[in-house]
Parts: sequence; C-alpha cells; structure tokens
Amino acid sequence: MRRITQSVKVGNVGIGSDYPISIQSMLKCKTTNIEECTKQIKELEKVHCDLLRVSVPDKESVEAFSKLLQISNIPLIADIHYSYDLATDVLNAGAKKIRMNPGNMSDFSKIDKLVSELKNHHACIRIGVNAGSTNKQYENLSKVDRIVQSTIDCVSVFENLCFHDIVLGLKSSDIDTMVESNIQIAQKYDYPMHIGVTESGPLTSGLIKSSIGISRLLEKGIGDTVRVSLSSCPVDEVIAAKMILKTFGLKKDVPEIISCPTCARTSINVFDLSQKVEKIVMGYNKDIKVAIMGCPLNGVEEGKNADLGIAGGEKESLLFIKGQVVKKISNDKLLDEFINLVNNYIGEMDND
Ligand code: SF4
Repeated sequence: MRRITQSVKVGNVGIGSDYPISIQSMLKCKTTNIEECTKQIKELEKVHCDLLRVSVPDKESVEAFSKLLQISNIPLIADIHYSYDLATDVLNAGAKKIRMNPGNMSDFSKIDKLVSELKNHHACIRIGVNAGSTNKQYENLSKVDRIVQSTIDCVSVFENLCFHDIVLGLKSSDIDTMVESNIQIAQKYDYPMHIGVTESGPLTSGLIKSSIGISRLLEKGIGDTVRVSLSSCPVDEVIAAKMILKTFGLKKDVPEIISCPTCARTSINVFDLSQKVEKIVMGYNKDIKVAIMGCPLNGVEEGKNADLGIAGGEKESLLFIKGQVVKKISNDKLLDEFINLVNNYIGEMDND
C-alpha cells in the first residue's frame, strides 16, 4: 500500500501519492552543449521519461538551462547543489523544481531569500541528501543517523519559513543505509520521496543494486518518483525504472521484452536486435510482451507466451503473433519488418 503524502507539481507532472510514481533521469553531458543535450532529451521523450534533471554548475549553464526549457517536452529540474545565486537565477529562468544538497550548503542564512524566490515562482525543491555530503557536525554518528539528522535540519529551516513544497531524497550507494534512512524519514514526514541508489555502478551491477534497493522501499509503500542511477545512457535508466515499476504492478502500460540467452542454434544477432527492439517498443505505453528468439526450432514455442515475436533462422526468420507464424522474412529486413508488425499490432489494439 503506497504511503499517503503531500503532492507537488513540476510543470504537468505531479509528485506524491495523488499521482502515479514518476520516472526521472538526468542529462549526461555539459549543459552548455545544447546539441548533445537536445539529442538526449529527444531520446528520453521517445521512451516517456517523466522528469529530467539537469546540472546547473555555473552562470553559462543557467543560460543553457533556459534554452533547454524551450526545447524539452519533459519538465526539467535544475540541479544546483549549493549556490543560492544560481538557484535564484535558474528560478528566474523558469525552473519549476530545483534540487539542493544541504550537506554542501555551509550557510543557511540566505535561505529566506531562496524560499521567497521559490514561492514567487510557484516552484518546489528537492532536498537531496547524499551519504557522502552530510552536515559536518554529525561526523561521529552512524551513516544512517548522519543522513537522517542532516535531512531533519534542512527540512526544519524550510518549515520555519512556512515552505512545504518539498520532495525528499536520501541516497547512498550502500543499499542498507539508503533503505533505513528513507524508512526513518518516511515515518517522520509526509513529503513525497524521490528514491534511488546513488552511484550504483555500471549497467549490470548498477541494475542489480538499484532494483534491490528501490524494491525494498516500494514494498513498504515508499517512493513517489524514481531514478535508477547508472553509469550508462539516460535511456537505460528510464527503461530500468519502468521495468521495476511494472514488476511491482505499479505501472502496467510498459512493454516487456523476452529474449533468449542464445546458444549454438542461434542464427541472428539476438543481443543487438533485442536492445534495438526494446528501445523502440518502449516508445509505446502498452502492456505487451515481445519475444526475440534465436532459432525457429524452439523459438516460436518458447516465445509463445509473448504477444508477438521473432524466431531467427539462417537467412530468413519467422515473425509470430501469439505463437502462430504470420510471416517469413529475409534477415536483412528483419528489424524494419518486425517494427511494422509491432506498429500494426498496436494499431489494432487501439482500434479494439
Ligand atoms: Fe538456443 Fe533457440 Fe533456445 Fe535461443 S531459443 S537459446 S537459439 S534453443
């Protein structure tokens, strides 16, 4: 059962128990590199990323952030860390949510100005506390206590200024620390929570750590927006988050790829094909299963739980729907023909 929380809005996306759990990612290039940022934004739009965080480390990035707001159909969150001046500038540029890290803020005296700016711009803030940057005064406490106390201190400052449009995010690369600190804070406040395992690692190991950490919180009803933080492209983060939420039954309309591990019978490049197909079908908010199987002998049979699929052959492959072969296709046209089949299948679903 999902925890009941307050809610905030970032553009047209709500965060909190009044809304579905949103998925976010982060741009992974210089914010001033508008061309590369635009490319990443458009890729993320295709896979339906809900929210996108952008680092704003300097004045030039504020200007770039302002341009990206015009380009992006995904609401952008400005990641500031600690500079009040940059926070003010980026709010003036149009940011509706900023992220600050209280462990990196040595001076809370300017916070009343920041709160005025947040109120003026109807913007919200994520107080994002990381295990590596908690308040110095708590050095002797356990990791969990350091994160929890740093969060409480920062929340009190905002609450004393009557500001409550807050999202809390408590992260660590250590799963137990991350989970325990989030549980403690979720018991104390009803602010929406951003969950994830920070710096979780490269794709494979990062996925495992993130899935376990995020799942342990979702099981307890904690989590209103999710980021799977990976040393990989942002699209991978979104696909991973979608699959975690789908597996928990918290997001239904997510395509699922079934693909065989391959063996000596494999005739097509299943690894490459399954990755390409996954990125394309993730553009559909549909609850469908797609199978990419390496051979005709076992492929159709083993993939028949899928709605539709490919069973690869030497020169030609079979396309099937619900276990029934519907077409034989030359391997050089396989991806295009299969995507046509998927499009037609989804078109028929929409007409039903
Ligand atoms: Fe091997 Fe065919 Fe099974 Fe794939 S589906 S693992 S190619 S037997």
